[in-house]
Amino acid sequence: MQRFFIPSDWIAGDTVRLSGVPAHQIRVVLRMHAGARVIVLDGSGWEYEIELNEVGAREVRGVVVEKRSATAEPRAQVTVYLSLLKKDRFEWALQKCTEIGAAQFVPIHCTRTVIPLQNVSEKKRARWQRIITEAAEQCGRGRVPSLEAPRPFAEALAELPRYDRALIPWVGERTEALSAALADGARSVALFVGPEGGFTPQEVSAANEAGALGVTLGPRVLRAETAAVVAVTLTLAALGELGAFEEHFPR
Ligand code: SAH
Repeated sequence: MQRFFIPSDWIAGDTVRLSGVPAHQIRVVLRMHAGARVIVLDGSGWEYEIELNEVGAREVRGVVVEKRSATAEPRAQVTVYLSLLKKDRFEWALQKCTEIGAAQFVPIHCTRTVIPLQNVSEKKRARWQRIITEAAEQCGRGRVPSLEAPRPFAEALAELPRYDRALIPWVGERTEALSAALADGARSVALFVGPEGGFTPQEVSAANEAGALGVTLGPRVLRAETAAVVAVTLTLAALGELGAFEEHFPR
């Protein structure tokens, strides 16, 4: 069934009124009619199955037939501090990391990042948020990962006390495996992934001083976007979020 994240005030009791992108999707893209069912989510952890009773040009209306908890959210909160990358690669990383279960994205600008911070327009951020929202809808998540404002690497390091664990995968680390670093568990993890040219040694030591542990993703040098996907995968796997499951939300 099609899923849509909507603002919570579009749901009033049993009635749901949709406009904007979801309404357009339903009427124009999916060509749905009254009687069809979709799922709407307000990001609170609940999902609502609704039956459409009016598919108009300006508004789509439905009635709630079932309210249930959304079950696909990981318990662990993974924040990906990802260097800005060339357009397609960055967007691909956002989409894939959302599917896997990242909770938050923070674009960062590192010494070797080739995209200037000021290139990230409001329009681009809105596009990224759309990519994340669509990926979250498609894979059945109960919340849309947040996309924070892009910031310099040094600023990001100052935020590390917020997390249970901060890890910086880089190619100079040989012995500390990512999964081993999470053996004691963690509820919130920050992951740093560098640009195509990698982190500078100075950046790695500054990260260490700020409390981030250097880790390896194995002996092959991965492209940055691949490294992001692998790091999120290994993190959620280490924390038991990528295996057998039962309905587990809210927790
Ligand atoms: N030529 C660069 C490689 C950059 S790869 C260098 O020498 O550093 C882009 C990013 O992906 C890196 O900054 C790092 O965060 C991550 N990465 C890629 N492969 C990795 C690996 N095998 N172990 C740890 N991190 C890796």
